[in-house]
Amino acid sequence: MKSPQAQVHFNDNGIPVASQFDDVYFSNDSGIDETQHVFIDGNDLLARWQHWSHSQFVIAETGFGTGLNFLVVMQAFAQFRRENPTHPLKRLHFLTTEKFPLPKDDMARALSAFPSLSGMVTALLNQYPLALDGCHRRHFSDYSTTLDLWIGDVHHLLPQWHSPKAGLIDAWFLDGFAPSKNPDMWTDNLFSQMARLSKVGATFGTFTAAGVVKRGLAAVGFEIKKRNGFGRKRDMLTGVFNAEKTPSTTREGPYYRYNQSPLYAGDSVIVVGSGLAAALTTLALAKRGIKVTLCHDKATLASGASGNPQGGFYPQLHSQVSLASRLQAHSFLFARNFYDDVIAQAGSGKVSHDFCGVVQLNFNPKVAQRQQKLIENSVWPEGLIHYASSDFICQKAQVQLAQDGLFIPQGGWLSPPELVAALIEQARALGCVSLLPMHTFSHYERKYLEGEKPSVLAHFDNGATLQAKHLILALGAGAVASSSFTSLPLRPVRGQVEAIPSQAPINQLATVLCHKGYMTPAYNHRHALGSTYGKNDLDIEVRSEDTQQNLVTHQKAMEGNNLVEQLTHDGTARAATRLGSPDHQPLSGMLTNYNALKSRYEGLSLGKPLHKECALPDEPVSTLCCLGSRGLTTAPLMAELLVSELTHAPLPLDNDLCRGVHPARFMVRDCIRGIMGDTS
Ligand code: SAM
Repeated sequence: MKSPQAQVHFNDNGIPVASQFDDVYFSNDSGIDETQHVFIDGNDLLARWQHWSHSQFVIAETGFGTGLNFLVVMQAFAQFRRENPTHPLKRLHFLTTEKFPLPKDDMARALSAFPSLSGMVTALLNQYPLALDGCHRRHFSDYSTTLDLWIGDVHHLLPQWHSPKAGLIDAWFLDGFAPSKNPDMWTDNLFSQMARLSKVGATFGTFTAAGVVKRGLAAVGFEIKKRNGFGRKRDMLTGVFNAEKTPSTTREGPYYRYNQSPLYAGDSVIVVGSGLAAALTTLALAKRGIKVTLCHDKATLASGASGNPQGGFYPQLHSQVSLASRLQAHSFLFARNFYDDVIAQAGSGKVSHDFCGVVQLNFNPKVAQRQQKLIENSVWPEGLIHYASSDFICQKAQVQLAQDGLFIPQGGWLSPPELVAALIEQARALGCVSLLPMHTFSHYERKYLEGEKPSVLAHFDNGATLQAKHLILALGAGAVASSSFTSLPLRPVRGQVEAIPSQAPINQLATVLCHKGYMTPAYNHRHALGSTYGKNDLDIEVRSEDTQQNLVTHQKAMEGNNLVEQLTHDGTARAATRLGSPDHQPLSGMLTNYNALKSRYEGLSLGKPLHKECALPDEPVSTLCCLGSRGLTTAPLMAELLVSELTHAPLPLDNDLCRGVHPARFMVRDCIRGIMGDTS
């Protein structure tokens, strides 16, 4: 859902003021010094970082505003890292909520007052997300910091944060305008969520000393201290969470919690797969210092569905904000930001791509109705998708088309095999990744050594056996043949894509065109034109009848435009099998024999409360699969989710979306419907 933006004006001192709240975003005296005093010193951060023995420190803020607090603490953390390069604390993770995101221009103006932060301000503005509800994760690798900007109301968002048993948050920045100006924020609901999410020993700092805040936080287990306030403020509050940790009280079922012990830097993981999912997972692990052995079945990478020379990159958005379209929107925006970074690092010409925009043609009355509804409902920001007249489309696409439609300005196409190669190169440069080609995965077994956490043995068809702390199966269509996946309802789908020689009039095409199929601008003198959809078909031979079907689909959708009818095709094409699921959503999370777990959850059909011991087993195996034909869009966020989960870091999705992609969901749905037998 698109979010309302802040209305901002600037006072005589040049300080931004929120018109909705009639309050300043930061002190009239000195914004930076205020952040230092209230939030950094208030949480005793510099001393705590020195004594920290974990690899990450997690701060949560209420009210992102101009981002000033974030920038100041990121600067302090970057300095800490520079001065302590061998210290175990490696990353700062900053979670923040914002109900009324500032328009980018206002943010730029507000932050222009701080020249000492200018490098970081540019980095933030370059990655500043669209005003779309939900989590926007941004990595600032130059500063060893990750930002999760959660757009929406803090009261809706915090209950949606997933917390490990021991808690998630190490320090709170309680900002959010004065309680007198914004009483809705400072409620018992906020304080009890803080208690749910805090680790024992978590601290908070806030500029206010209001009684409602003091009493509310004391009531949920914070020991409160009054300190001298900043500037004209006499007092402020700080505190430490010292209560006994009670189990998480969110609505999530035990089958969605992660129980496995976290992966740390230096731990070893086997990733199996040769495509985008495997490459992204490998890079995400390597960035956290985890040793990866990437095993794949052929001599080269990207041998399966990720081997198509061009892939269209766009989200599938609906007129309603469904779980599916929220996932698509967030995955797409995360992926675009991520690809910009990977492509820039790879250097020019390494990853062929063009973010030229994607036109979704209105090609029949039913589609017209759907598109009309999407525009009327106005649930997506214009920067994500907007109406496109036929004139606009002709001008963007540089070909004559009579239809109107929708336009996705940030979409386009990329070369998946080149992307996979760049991801692996970047992962290998981190020094903890090795590749094992010609290793076809056979099966795994858990291995328990006395006094050790469970580990896993992966067996391969060539007789090799590898041991690691964790195994991630990103097999794509190969999962269909694997005994490890028998309890999951996998759906292989064959897709054939034509590589049409570039010729008039499509040689002018300057955007991706999509309808029932899609066509890309030329790359290496050919256009990708796809795709067929052959359910349960594992054959990857190119078929002339599929070629015919692809051409007819395009002719029908673009009838009257004289664009496809005249094309000559030499039959060059590629077929591959993609893996899908019955609800068309990806799978990212723990892999186990879910059928064997059903008996633990049979009470679900009767609405009975679940027994305490119903948690998932501590399974050292996960999967990232079922990306279907949308892998370019969903894979980066799904890999980020999986690796965040495995390292017990904050998750980049709310609980509802996490559940929507969790492999346990099919078992849970079966149990709710009373289907206890094997349905696979
Ligand atoms: N930390 C900010 C900075 O560094 O610029 C200043 C924060 S400003 C004082 C308070 C922020 O809280 C505003 O941006 C406001 O829109 C936001 N806010 C107010 N009520 C909120 C709510 N219920 N949920 C989330 N954010 C809220």
